[in-house]
Amino acid sequence: MASDTVLVLNAGSSSLKYQLVQPDSGEVIASGVVERIGESGATVKHRRGDETHEFVGKIADHQEGLEKAFELFREAGHDLAEEGITAVGHRVVHGGPKFYRPTVVDDEVIAEINELEDLAPLHNPVNLLGIEAIRELLPDVPSVAVFDTAFFHDLPDHAATYAIDKDLAEAHDIRRYGFHGTSHEYVSQQTAEFLGADPESLNQIVLHLGNGASASAIEGGRPVETSMGLTPLEGLVMGTRSGDIDPGVVMYLRRAAGMDVDEIDAVLNRQSGLKGLCGENDFRALTERVEAGDPDATLAYNVYIHRLRKYVGAYMVTLGRTDAIVFTAGVGENAARVRTDAMAGLENFGIQLDAERNNSKSREARVISTDDSAVTVLVIPTNEELAIARQSVTALEARA
Ligand code: ADP
Repeated sequence: MASDTVLVLNAGSSSLKYQLVQPDSGEVIASGVVERIGESGATVKHRRGDETHEFVGKIADHQEGLEKAFELFREAGHDLAEEGITAVGHRVVHGGPKFYRPTVVDDEVIAEINELEDLAPLHNPVNLLGIEAIRELLPDVPSVAVFDTAFFHDLPDHAATYAIDKDLAEAHDIRRYGFHGTSHEYVSQQTAEFLGADPESLNQIVLHLGNGASASAIEGGRPVETSMGLTPLEGLVMGTRSGDIDPGVVMYLRRAAGMDVDEIDAVLNRQSGLKGLCGENDFRALTERVEAGDPDATLAYNVYIHRLRKYVGAYMVTLGRTDAIVFTAGVGENAARVRTDAMAGLENFGIQLDAERNNSKSREARVISTDDSAVTVLVIPTNEELAIARQSVTALEARA
């Protein structure tokens, strides 16, 4: 029997990512992704070591997707019962005001996550599909919900509060919650460890730049600002989300374009950001178009970088003293050009990138600033799955 492992699930509306992790060592035993659930030509890609196993066909729902994934575990020669799974850790996007610790799932917790649907209509219901599917398939293994908002629960009031009618905000739990918290927490801890610094004395700005994107300012291990708000729509320009806009745009779209709330929601969440500006939300493809001189892609890229720099500037002032600026997630870890452009001309702020370090291709944590840069700039790979696995174990131990 394998040593204790955690199965980590991240359920999206038509997809489901999973990873079987050994939480102490961080070893990924197997991983996979189910895509196009409910559509024709659904796929499961399962990876174990160097081997991949695939299924292509019909998958009606998340439960069937997991069943197919489990078949691929067997096809790869491993019985799930022999994998030593002690917990299933679930990424749940919105914890609302109530959930800010990893929470062992029972019927009551499911009902309460369901009640947060208004706050996260695009995310929480689909996260629950993953929880419900695995509870059917592995009824004896406890599930733990790990919330994307949790790390930001204790944001200072002045950062968490919107300047809107106080009673209305209180009645509807309207505040800035922040998202990608698992990543910001993990990456900031890794940064301190990598630098051999006392986390209590380290001030850092973490830039999580993936398809979704967010920034945070972290003072001595505690977040003091973050760019996402009530929902993951606020802040940086993202793959398909607008990030910050004048809220007046929403009313204007209602009045001038006759759009209803769901249409506006879809425009701002799915048809905006890089995609809205140039039709492309994959950063690699976008960069190729920028390099070929495409004007729409170039404007999209420039808007993206401009917003990012605005946040870096704001957070440097929020922190007062910045020790480290950290790039992470798909774009942050891989796109040297974004890091160059985001940090360009900031020598007077103590930021000096080393071009060779920045351009070197590596999957490892690394410093990309010069040795005499006052602010250390780093690339630190995120690992939300491992963080979820570890938090799941901690939650179960706390309950025992
Ligand atoms: P998410 O988890 O939010 O879906 P990721 O963190 O995986 O997103 O990041 C996805 C983004 O990273 C995509 O836009 C992708 O194009 C971009 N990306 C991945 N590799 C590279 C690369 N080598 N250069 C530029 N962008 C990259």
